[in-house]
Amino acid sequence: MLTQNLGYPRIGGQRQLKKACESYWAGKIGLEELHQIARIIREENWQTQLVAGIDLIPCNDFSYYDQVLDTSLLLGVIPQRYAPVSAVKGNSEIDLYFAMARGYQKDGLDITAMEMTKWMDTNYHYIVPEFTAHQSFKIHSEKVFNEYTAARQTLGDKAKPVLVGPVSYLLVGKEKEQGFERIDLIKNLVPVYVEIINRLKQQGAQWIQLDEPCLALDLSKKDKEAFEYAYRAIAEQVSGVKLLIATYFEALLDNTQIAVNLPVAALHVDLVRAPEQLEEVLALIPANLQLSLGVVDGRNVWKNDYEKSLAYIHKAVAKLGSDRVIIAPSCSLLHSPIDLDLETAIDPEIKNWMAFAKQKLKEVVELKQIAAGDNAPLEANKKAIESRRTSQKVHKQQVKDRVAAITEADASRKSAFPVRQQLHRERFNLPAFPTTTIGSFPQTDDIRQLRAKFKKGDLTTGQYEKAIEDATIEVIRWQEELGIDVLVHGEFERNDMVEYFGEQLDGFLFTKNGWVQSYGSRCVKPPVIFGDVSRPQDMTVRWITFAAKQTQKQMKGMLTGPVTILQWSFVRDDQPRDITTNQIALAIRDEVVALEKAGIGIVQIDEAAIREGLPLRKAKRPHYLDWAVKAFRVTASGVEDKTQIHTHMCYSEFNDIIEHIAAMDADVITIETSRSQMELLHAFSHFEYPNEIGPGVYDIHSPRVPSKEEMVSLLTKAADLLPAQNLWVNPDCGLKTRKWPETKAALENMVQAAKQAREQISVAGTI
Ligand code: GLN
Ligand code: ZN
Repeated sequence: MLTQNLGYPRIGGQRQLKKACESYWAGKIGLEELHQIARIIREENWQTQLVAGIDLIPCNDFSYYDQVLDTSLLLGVIPQRYAPVSAVKGNSEIDLYFAMARGYQKDGLDITAMEMTKWMDTNYHYIVPEFTAHQSFKIHSEKVFNEYTAARQTLGDKAKPVLVGPVSYLLVGKEKEQGFERIDLIKNLVPVYVEIINRLKQQGAQWIQLDEPCLALDLSKKDKEAFEYAYRAIAEQVSGVKLLIATYFEALLDNTQIAVNLPVAALHVDLVRAPEQLEEVLALIPANLQLSLGVVDGRNVWKNDYEKSLAYIHKAVAKLGSDRVIIAPSCSLLHSPIDLDLETAIDPEIKNWMAFAKQKLKEVVELKQIAAGDNAPLEANKKAIESRRTSQKVHKQQVKDRVAAITEADASRKSAFPVRQQLHRERFNLPAFPTTTIGSFPQTDDIRQLRAKFKKGDLTTGQYEKAIEDATIEVIRWQEELGIDVLVHGEFERNDMVEYFGEQLDGFLFTKNGWVQSYGSRCVKPPVIFGDVSRPQDMTVRWITFAAKQTQKQMKGMLTGPVTILQWSFVRDDQPRDITTNQIALAIRDEVVALEKAGIGIVQIDEAAIREGLPLRKAKRPHYLDWAVKAFRVTASGVEDKTQIHTHMCYSEFNDIIEHIAAMDADVITIETSRSQMELLHAFSHFEYPNEIGPGVYDIHSPRVPSKEEMVSLLTKAADLLPAQNLWVNPDCGLKTRKWPETKAALENMVQAAKQAREQISVAGTI
């Protein structure tokens, strides 16, 4: 029996890669230093895995930015617009690479970056390959060969190069021209893969891992044929090296037959996400194929339950014999924080339930040890699992009972929207095209330093709160002068929209070093939900009521919704996600009610991430949308009709989920649309969205200040698709990352645009 790993975090335990890349971009370090830091990270990673006792250790899983972009460079898939970068940069590969990732605005050039999107259903973002109709492929970068050479020196035969597989590589990309389908490029692509594989073999590679996550997605007939074609063609031209196909994040389902019959040496399946697939895979697996069992969760922070994993391992061994079984994490450990040993402040009882990447390697090796008959590691594991299963830190009967007792009525506002809308019109007396913002105002260095000083103890609570109050008063005065209709308090007291709530809720913990790569040099440190969630006290009432007292205008309360809190945290794996979400929903619901009691008339519950949670397989989506929408409704429905509930979403690709968005029944929804010139609103041309809506009229992701005329024209477009009396005027997201000068200029234009819209665009029910 072998063990393997599919990929290891490459940011470095102290985020060295982030710092090195950012220094290189800023011109503070040179190329040699950047490469040196990268080399050290790779060597350390290999040593860690070697010492842990892993048999097949990945190389080429390292990347300066993203492994899909690495693949584009490897295959020479470089969009034409970057040619001038190579010209000015003397063909420097890394500068071309970073230009593709980040765009290039220097040396008289202004070239946009390639598009970035989420890798399957993770929070990792990859750079989307761009294909043209006559796309050619050829080996363009030596990175994989160089990294293999280095890995071989440290690891010998254990070094296993990792590549994005040819079919998934095409499928995760995009056609940049009309008139062809990217999957048809497979015929041109396969010969280059053959060449790469043969070169690695000549260098000494025994195993090569090809990541084909798309095998676990819904595939068209053509996609399926591409898999069969590609691997048959490769098998015909390659021999003497073992190919391993890695699938993850979902079950193979209808692709099982294809997957197990591909002419390769081994197949990896994810038994954490989809343990149910083992049965079918074992039933269909042909003689000789080796099976890699992904039993250790590569996407979460919990200790493996050895008994559970061993049950799968034993089942596989019974059918295949131990020689054909490989034990592995479920997916690349890229998605896990690096080392739990660095966490010195976590409650030791809870820490004993957790495992980060380094600890997961040990788990893989211990599972092999136990499977081979040495039960030594089993006892301690059983104890930890049992302690978590029964701990009072996790289990709060009252919370469980309350979730179990949620009724349909708890998830419904008292009256239907038209009744509520009438009440709101009378109560708030807002003009047509009311203006508002999404919540945050620029978080200047001053504000960040304030928080840092307070955390360090350099400021007393009194001093800190006074400073936040002053900042809040200032933005309220400014919004009043500007003539914004519904004000916000600016969120100066918040570090992050999830962390702020997690810190105040029971059942959450925070790590010091639990960083995970999100994209390029950007890393996130998600909170960990370890126990039943409850709300010991009010979380936002103090700040919102303080702000409300400073003005005669409406002050919007600002909360983060349950699905977004769930999506952006490490979650419990000992209960279904919908139960955890409902616990959070009840906590936030109580906060909404507390705000209402404190006299706040409008409350926004941000659900920035509802769409991100959509399952990869279509068949699973309705169930997810059902519970996600219901959790939002539970959050929003504790209040009286007279209270106006807003929600906000950071996207508007609503076409496929528009009915579910409507079913959330928020009185007002604000969404992102400005970058697409309201094109995304086309979902609304075949679906009559019933409630009020604020399609963002300007893009906050750029410092550019839009003119009044541009915004009026966007509003006019919106009014063509939606009833004008239901339209709000707002930016497309929070302004936290912007600077003040552009924010002020843009919002002034926005208020003027609303005024002009009131004069120009006719609104039903007014004269
Ligand atoms: N209220 C939050 C803000 O304005 C919403 C941010 C978001 O949607 N990502 O910052
Ligand atoms: Zn947003």
